[in-house]
Amino acid sequence: MSLLTKDYRNLQADEIGIIGIPLDENSSFMRGPAKAPQLIIDAIQSDSANYFTENLTNLKGHPRVFWCGNVPFDGYLDISTPVGEILGAGAIPFTLGGDHSIAYPIIRAMSRKYPKLNIIQFDAHGDLYDELDGNRHSHASPFARIMENGLAGSLTQVGIRTMTQHQKEQGERFGVKVIQMKDWTADLEFHLEGPTYLSFDMDALDPAFAPGVSHHEPGGFSTREVLTMIQKLNLDIVGCDVVEYNPDRDVNGVTAMVAAKIVKELLARLLQDRPAK
Ligand code: MN
Ligand code: MN
Repeated sequence: MSLLTKDYRNLQADEIGIIGIPLDENSSFMRGPAKAPQLIIDAIQSDSANYFTENLTNLKGHPRVFWCGNVPFDGYLDISTPVGEILGAGAIPFTLGGDHSIAYPIIRAMSRKYPKLNIIQFDAHGDLYDELDGNRHSHASPFARIMENGLAGSLTQVGIRTMTQHQKEQGERFGVKVIQMKDWTADLEFHLEGPTYLSFDMDALDPAFAPGVSHHEPGGFSTREVLTMIQKLNLDIVGCDVVEYNPDRDVNGVTAMVAAKIVKELLARLLQDRPAK
């Protein structure tokens, strides 16, 4: 027995449904992340490691954690539909991308249930472009769409190291709290009241730790720094995504294992913070 599996339509209240969204058509530089979800699950289930998280949560056959496979959707914006169905059942969506454009339809569904949702975005990039290459659904734009549609009560970005004048203005326009990598310190704490969504772009990590991403942006987090931040979160997390793993750029599957480790530690966090009623 490994991770339990279940059709996402059969999830029950308080269960965590890990779903794959194999969409990379909104990537600006190269495709590849569509192949990521199953590969991250394969890394979690690899015989080279065990299923325990660092706080000794055993994910093997865990009764509240289910891999639901890649879920069906009818085009980009319809990604909101399966996420909305999971939320409707009272379950917790944990999405594996896919490129970061999927955050907009995911948050559209989340905001219907949590109108003042806080978002924490780990990323090398702000993803606040009004459009990129004429595409308003570019993976460089989801947080512009989210904020201009009033889908979040707050957005906090961590790890940014690609600021531009346009994105600085967009961030100010939308009241985004931007913690640039150059200003980050290890004692950072997040103080957010109410439901919080965590969106994790794998390129927040330094490419030395996670080469399997489309956009190598040096000067990022170590794997340990990210894990420590996750373990220190003390928030009401109501959903997560891990996006932008690009297996075509990976080296010996090392980034898949890093993504798997981040997913595992986020699952531990969710299980700890949202005990079954
Ligand atoms: Mn991103
Ligand atoms: Mn990025």
